[in-house]
Amino acid sequence: MVRPFVNWSGSLAFTPAGYAEPTTEEEVRELVLRARESGTTLRPIGSGHSSSPLVRTDDGTLVSLDRLAGVIDQVDECATAWAGTRLKALGEGLYEAGLAMDNLGDVDYQSIAGATATGTHGTGLGFGNLSTQVTGVRLVTGTGEVLEISAEHNADLLPAARLSLGVLGVVTQLTLDVQPRYELRRRSWCAPIEWTLDHLAELQHTNRNMDFYWYPRSDLAQIRTMNRADEVAEGEQWTARQVLEADPSAEVRELEIGPTHRTIPQNRELRFEEIEYMIPSEAFPACFAEVRRRILRRHRRTVAWRVLVRTIAADDIWLSNAYGRLTTTIACLQNTSLPYEDYFRDMESVFRHYGGRPHWGKKHWLTARELRPLLPRWDDFQAVRRRLDPDGVFLTPYLARLLGES
Ligand SMILES: Cc1cc2nc3c(=O)[nH]c(=O)nc-3n(C[C@H](O)[C@H](O)[C@H](O)COP(=O)(O)OP(=O)(O)OC[C@H]3O[C@@H](n4cnc5c(N)ncnc54)[C@H](O)[C@@H]3O)c2cc1C
Repeated sequence: MVRPFVNWSGSLAFTPAGYAEPTTEEEVRELVLRARESGTTLRPIGSGHSSSPLVRTDDGTLVSLDRLAGVIDQVDECATAWAGTRLKALGEGLYEAGLAMDNLGDVDYQSIAGATATGTHGTGLGFGNLSTQVTGVRLVTGTGEVLEISAEHNADLLPAARLSLGVLGVVTQLTLDVQPRYELRRRSWCAPIEWTLDHLAELQHTNRNMDFYWYPRSDLAQIRTMNRADEVAEGEQWTARQVLEADPSAEVRELEIGPTHRTIPQNRELRFEEIEYMIPSEAFPACFAEVRRRILRRHRRTVAWRVLVRTIAADDIWLSNAYGRLTTTIACLQNTSLPYEDYFRDMESVFRHYGGRPHWGKKHWLTARELRPLLPRWDDFQAVRRRLDPDGVFLTPYLARLLGES
């Protein structure tokens, strides 16, 4: 069955030669073996929320795991789910079992395999991206072999398989480190951007999760914090005092209290295009100052929306954009009805100047030449890729350029 593919934001559209929705792992294996024999390409897809062309294939087959979804089992604080499970369904399934994922990103529409394949992240100094919650991966490699990868099996492949861009194989199941469920309290308020930057370290260190949106047109920030509802966070007390000192008329709005999977993700109805780079945290103040200067000087008339700042803990996953360093992320969002390329390319040059690494699933213009020096385990990942997919079943022209393969 052939059908056109359009991603969430609408900027990536193509018609693949084939489309498949396998219902068993054996069917996934058959698809891989057939593609290998015929020398064609397979691209696994999740919910199509990425806007970089990771899933694009014009002459190959898109493989959706929508029909391989649901929580399979949970033992203590480890849960295994089918790769096609959407984050929302995963959250509900874990909640029923008394469990929760430690942290989440801004929405819950993605599949767990798609989200972890690009290092999707939320915010919080104490939390890595979602791929750091992956402790086991089951995948069908480019030769049709079914591999279990975990601390007990093929452990040497784990740092590559936890974030793999869909180039090591079709992931069929993922095992995640999860927590007993609890509730979070979400708060939000507006503050001048200068105040926000002056108090950023305190806000980040005393709240479980903290991020802010900067609105270039008003030069104001919207600060958002989340803390466990069963604890009085230092950050909440500190915030109340500081906010009143800064502006006695300011109002800290308590938005909601609820389980993590319903409180962290938000609804996003307005479609947008996005570039996001992961900046070493120590370079953030200078990088953000330059981003702000350039937007106010060059782009304020055309930038219709906002800039999001979050944090991610360092990790040891080979292609992770937080590999080996505490990271502060800067994301520029632009309504899909407006041009984005000049603006994003200008921002990319600033991010790169400060050692930024791009979000794999969002707009960027880097290829292997620029990426390799940014990721110390780049060559190790490529060696694993060649081993698991020697014939390039998962390699499209875009991915070959991205990864530096001929
Ligand atoms: C509205 C919106 C909000 C977002 N919020 C955040 C956020 O808060 N934080 C953040 O970091 N990012 C965010 N993103 C980016 C998004 O999380 C990533 O692009 C994510 O990868 C999309 O997941 P998906 O399920 O749509 O996968 P797709 O975009 O369909 O695919 C992404 C990658 O996963 C691979 N893949 C999918 N399934 C499999 C499988 N079974 N086996 C192997 N590989 C597979 C694909 O090949 C591809 O390389 C957001 C995007 C949008 C549009």
